[in-house]
Amino acid sequence: MTLKKRSAIWHPFTQHALQGEMTKILRGDGAYLYTADGRRIIDAISSWWVVTHGHCQPHIVSAIQEQAGKLNQIIFAGYTHDPAEEVAALLLKLGPPGLDHVFFSDSGSTSVEVALKMAIGYWNNIGEPRTRVVVMQHSYHGDTIGAMSVGARGVFNEAYGPLLFDVTAIPFPAESREQATLDALASACRNESPAAFIVEPLILGAGGMLMYPAWVLRQMKRICEASRVLFIADEVMTGWGRTGTLFACEQANITPDIACYSKGLTGGALPLAVTLCRADIFDAHYSKDRTRTFFHSSSYTANPVACAAAKANLDLWQDQESRRRVAAVATMQAHAIEPFRADPRFANVRRTGTITALDLKTSDPGYLANIGPKLQAFFERRNLLLRPLGNTIYVMPPYCVTAVDLDQIYAGVRDAADALA
Ligand SMILES: *Cc1c(COP(=O)(O)O)cnc(C)c1O
Repeated sequence: MTLKKRSAIWHPFTQHALQGEMTKILRGDGAYLYTADGRRIIDAISSWWVVTHGHCQPHIVSAIQEQAGKLNQIIFAGYTHDPAEEVAALLLKLGPPGLDHVFFSDSGSTSVEVALKMAIGYWNNIGEPRTRVVVMQHSYHGDTIGAMSVGARGVFNEAYGPLLFDVTAIPFPAESREQATLDALASACRNESPAAFIVEPLILGAGGMLMYPAWVLRQMKRICEASRVLFIADEVMTGWGRTGTLFACEQANITPDIACYSKGLTGGALPLAVTLCRADIFDAHYSKDRTRTFFHSSSYTANPVACAAAKANLDLWQDQESRRRVAAVATMQAHAIEPFRADPRFANVRRTGTITALDLKTSDPGYLANIGPKLQAFFERRNLLLRPLGNTIYVMPPYCVTAVDLDQIYAGVRDAADALA
């Protein structure tokens, strides 16, 4: 393969030597993207899992426009503003009961870093230092050093291995092997006095859309409680309706000690993240002693325009219509995926809420297998934005997607199997 022209822009997760022309997008509307060369693409992965209601959702767009002309940035230490106050109040109202404080940041990775610092800071400040973190195999929590440390080790972070801190990994609770996961967690909690356990509730996203049931999530929370290990729910991907409920933890009827939300927090319009925590974690930092301050900030903490977008998103979630859309998409997805269960070319056909995934059987599995880029190129030619994780094809559409759109998406998946399997 000849080397392509070097790009001035260094794109994320992109091997420029193999990448063809970047598709230029001029406009987004609902589930559709419009390209510079006159095509309409169906966004079947919500632009990397962030766009929930649809591109350029009018209520969110007008909130952004209004806020941008009023106050578009303010230092957030010593100062506050209505959009942030409103977002915090609504998050505490709509989130799991028992979370009392909201810390703002800018991305999912940062919300995870904040969660880890809150947890370690808590143990430090109560005079019982604990620093070890327990994680689940195949997890993904972001690409900053701390977030990589608690995520799966592999080709993505091999070069940076020496910078990553050591963690204890428990196995993914694969079907009929759930007890091994629970036993490993119990043993780690008993024997290693960890500070925290961090987990993606119900679905491990980037690790391959691996799904596990709510009862396992509930049991893991119980085990952590028994050893006072802080339970961090990374709902960066699972939040905002993806799993069928507003947050995945609802299905297990649990309140994590710390929760991370980002991606769909602004409906996918602007970058923003939050880390929510229980009162005792905040209280451990609450002191006349300045050394107990939670030492974390980013320049754009709680940016007012991003907060206005989040407030508009939260407005939409207060309205039953968003929940009806989620239920409708979950039902349509259930129907759409059904025929693939009997298709011998696919394995592990699965769904949680609005997300479906299936593995194309291939002699060449794994994330870096050539089948991934081949599938993606096939879908691009079909005007579908799908980005398989290796041989795992998943569909995570915005909630405005129609049955007709889904028909086109799954016809594309079927035809890809015909062409490439
Ligand atoms: C995407 C993701 C992150 C990282 O979020 P960024 O905004 O990309 O930094 C963290 N955790 C999970 C579960 C994610 O899916």
